[in-house]
Amino acid sequence: MQRKTDKIQINEIFTSIEGEGIFFGTKTMFVRMAGCPLNCIWCDTTYALSMESGHEYTLDHVKNLISKNLQPNTYKVNFTGGEPLIQYQAIIELAKFIRDEKGLRTYIESSCFDSKKFEKVLPYIDICKIEFKMSDSKVIDTMHYENLLHNEIQCLALSIENHKTTYIKVVITGSTDIEEFKKLLKNVFMRFKIANLAGFIIQPSYGTDEPTMERLFNFYDIVYPIYHDVRIIPQLHKVIGIR
Ligand code: SF4
Repeated sequence: MQRKTDKIQINEIFTSIEGEGIFFGTKTMFVRMAGCPLNCIWCDTTYALSMESGHEYTLDHVKNLISKNLQPNTYKVNFTGGEPLIQYQAIIELAKFIRDEKGLRTYIESSCFDSKKFEKVLPYIDICKIEFKMSDSKVIDTMHYENLLHNEIQCLALSIENHKTTYIKVVITGSTDIEEFKKLLKNVFMRFKIANLAGFIIQPSYGTDEPTMERLFNFYDIVYPIYHDVRIIPQLHKVIGIR
């Protein structure tokens, strides 16, 4: 799935409070790209999954929209979705613009489904959230799940090797398999030095198969002995009812 490079399909551009992860609470501009090939059961942006959602713009038009909507004291600009890597060439151009002309940090929120595309955008990105989707998310069919996991690990390696601010997020539901989580941790912490990570976020699912606090602590207690910068952080924007 790749679009013409002179046109960009954008779902929405807006400023809000960062509701997730280690930069929770910062004033952030969100550039939500249209389209995602995946299918997480707890997806909260289903309105952006179609490549036809939102509007088609030229690159210059999007740059104008960003300039017009950018608020003072914005901490960073997030490329989100949908799945931003589908339109990776547009992300490269927009990230260059945001860094060079606006002097702001760039941030990518991707499912990391394609490490080759991720590698192409990485030179223009400052902060990477690497999300590991557990199999209970039903993100993709079982036949392709191992390939997704492989790409996620590759993206984590690339982000760390290139000295990006890198943190991990895992969404935990009432059904996430604890043995699968342990296997993932072993895989991650055997390969990567903890000093190269900026955090490990356990995010409870919201509205779908929500985990109990006891269950969240079960997952936290597995990470903490290995890595102290683990945090359980619910999505702030859901809690306070903003976009
Ligand atoms: S990867 Fe993100 S946008 Fe795509 S289905 Fe999952 S949660 Fe939704």
